[in-house]
Parts: sequence; C-alpha cells; structure tokens
Amino acid sequence: MSADIFHLKEILYELKEHNATLVAVSKKKSVEEIKQVYDAGHKIFGENYVQELKEKYEALPKDIQWHFIGHLQTNKVKVISPFVSLIQSVDSLKLLKEINKEGEKNNRIINCLLQIHIAQEETKFGLSFAEAETILKSPEVKTMKNISIKGLMGMASLTENTSQIRKEFQALRRFFNQLQTLNSKPQTLSIGMTSDYKLALSKGSTMVRIGSAIFGERI
Ligand SMILES: *Cc1c(COP(=O)(O)O)cnc(C)c1O
Repeated sequence: MSADIFHLKEILYELKEHNATLVAVSKKKSVEEIKQVYDAGHKIFGENYVQELKEKYEALPKDIQWHFIGHLQTNKVKVISPFVSLIQSVDSLKLLKEINKEGEKNNRIINCLLQIHIAQEETKFGLSFAEAETILKSPEVKTMKNISIKGLMGMASLTENTSQIRKEFQALRRFFNQLQTLNSKPQTLSIGMTSDYKLALSKGSTMVRIGSAIFGERI
C-alpha cells in the first residue's frame, strides 16, 4: 500500500482555512508508508500502541513529532516519555502523575491533552467533564512541573447519525470554551477523524486525527 499524498494535500489545504493542525494517524502502517507522508512534508504523526510507536520512533527521522493517542497504561509511560511530543489520551489523575514523574526523570515537560468521554459507547475511554474540571483545578496538578496540559481530546460515537456526532462535538466545544476562564487556558481541541473531521472543524476543532483517508483502510 502507498499513502494517498493527493488526499493529504487536500486535507491540509482544508485545515488551513480553519487554522487546524493535522495529526496523521499511522497505527498499523509501515515505516515506508509513514516515510512517504514525511517526504511530502508532513511531520506530525499519531500512534496508538506503545511498542509500535517506540519502534517507529527509532526507525524514522528525529524531527517527527509523535503524538500518543491510544489508551496508555501507567507502566508503559516510561517507554515513550523520552521523546513523545503530545500525549492526547490522559484519562486519569494517576496517569498524569506518572507522566509528570517520567517527565522529571527525562528532564523535560511532557505536553498532554485530557481525553473526554463524549461518545455513547461505554467502551471508549475518557474523563467526564466534571472529572476533567477537577483535574484542571486541582492544586496538586498545579504543582506538577513536568507536565503541561494543553487542551482536550474527544472521540464521537461510531455512528452514521451526524446529528448525534454534532451534539457530542458541540458539548465538548462548549466545555472547552468554559475553560477559557482558567489561568491555564486550554488551547487545543482535538476532535475529528476521517469520517467526521468536517463536522469537527465546523464545531471549532483545532486539531484533527486522520488515518484511513491518508493511509487507506487498516486491516
Ligand atoms: C485510529 C484513530 C484515529 C484515526 O481514525 P481514522 O478513522 O482512520 O481517521 C483517530 N483518533 C484515534 C484516537 C484513533 O484511535
């Protein structure tokens, strides 16, 4: 398989109008396919699995910004903490503490997004609005010097029902707006994938995570 560079360029053009950033989701795709997208000039990639990310990081150019977007277990944080550019899937205070600890060990500040559960499916991970707000306002979190919470990430329900998806994105955008009163204003709202990124952009997404439209279907 080869990456669809034409479609990549189209998406980038579309995102420019919205001032949104593209994360090219490369899970289960080969180093060669990622290199094609890299050679076309794109340098931000998202991965879901710790070991796979580590191997790709080692094999590919070092100016790539790697985002972790999958469920992250506390005991795996140390594998990616030396190099990860943004962990988008922080879904507990415990995980945040561990990331801070590993950030300290590596003498760096690790950027994070809080993953919010907006979908109807129980299976998806993420915090409720209330839990996220508690974390953002927590004095303990404020003392964590080796993390920086940049914003929120969400995944809409897997459904053809666009009005449902719109509702979910809208609720998250509203919550994101409310947080602008905090000292540590969240800047990033990561919503939108291949099937729903246009909808996400219309609801104020600042970052989309697109896999299959660029790399083709995953098997
Ligand atoms: C796989 C994945 C994506 C990309 O999905 P596509 O439908 O291929 O664009 C985006 N976000 C997360 C969290 C993912 O796991």
